[in-house]
Amino acid sequence: MRRALLAVLLLLAAAPIAGQSRHVIFVTIDGVRPEDLFGGADPVVMRDPKQAGIADTAAFRARWWRETPEARRRAVMPFLWDTLVPAGALYGAGTNVRVSNGLNFSGPGYTELFTGAARADVTSNDDRRYTHPTVFEVVRAAVPRATDVAAFTSWTTQARLTATRGGTFVSQGPFEPLPGELADDARLVRLATLEGWVRHDDRSLRYDAFTHELALAWLVRYRPTLLHIGYGETDVDAHARHYDRYLAMLHDVDRMLSELMHAVWADPSLADQTTLVVTTDHGRGATAADWTDHGRDVGNAARWWFLASGAGVAARGVVAEPMIQAQVAPTILRLLGLPADRLDRAAPAVVLDRR
Ligand SMILES: [Zn+2]
Repeated sequence: MRRALLAVLLLLAAAPIAGQSRHVIFVTIDGVRPEDLFGGADPVVMRDPKQAGIADTAAFRARWWRETPEARRRAVMPFLWDTLVPAGALYGAGTNVRVSNGLNFSGPGYTELFTGAARADVTSNDDRRYTHPTVFEVVRAAVPRATDVAAFTSWTTQARLTATRGGTFVSQGPFEPLPGELADDARLVRLATLEGWVRHDDRSLRYDAFTHELALAWLVRYRPTLLHIGYGETDVDAHARHYDRYLAMLHDVDRMLSELMHAVWADPSLADQTTLVVTTDHGRGATAADWTDHGRDVGNAARWWFLASGAGVAARGVVAEPMIQAQVAPTILRLLGLPADRLDRAAPAVVLDRR
């Protein structure tokens, strides 16, 4: 009897997290409209090439235009539509999937995503911390190793918003030192040097390729329980009114998602035990004039989308149910079999494992 109990305890110790998934890769792609995700190249935006900022209309149409929205969206994100959506659940086809903070920009959006509620005191993009516990901190408190949680972001403020205080897990933003855990990899040391030399106009931003490469290395080496990757170039291209570059960047992020999942499938201890979550911090305007913009005064920018695919997620494809951005953090905790009560008054989790 005692021996049987010991065996059960050892089993529990070997499996510190009970739940449907053992690893969540939590990806954000900054400021991507549901209109573009679900419909690809948008005829409303394309109608006026000047307002769309399309440099070469013929090349744009050849690359992105197809007769149906299904074919257009597949041209932009083939991996997402052919592989991730059929194996998961995608919310946001209608207008009942929304950001709930009312401000529709990044600081409040990432806070809502990370803490499980819209927070009234987060009203800026300031590079600072707040007191609301985050999903990363809740997972960090439940896992044995500091390397089990990590975040790599293309925007400085986003890295700061992942925790109420620094130092409990790696959360690395632009131009910050290479984490010591990766410093024995000469290739990554070189990459960090190059990052400093490839200067973005805005020093709070780095190009997504750097963020991606570091996160991918962390995934392969440490098999984290929760890995956050914050891609940001889509938002920059949209603000700059370059619809062609924005779609091309979204296409590149689709390839990055494919690389992440191929790394997962190549590792027997990650394959079938990993969930990919992909979402955005806010939408944007719906007209030819304001598709570039978002914020409190751009009502359509509250339109939002959410994808989960892999372990613990029933394969339902596009679902029509309502969802708000505040539900993401508790939903990630539910996937990992962890309670959400360590978040502060979080929204309810979405049940992803039932058909
Ligand atoms: Zn923006």
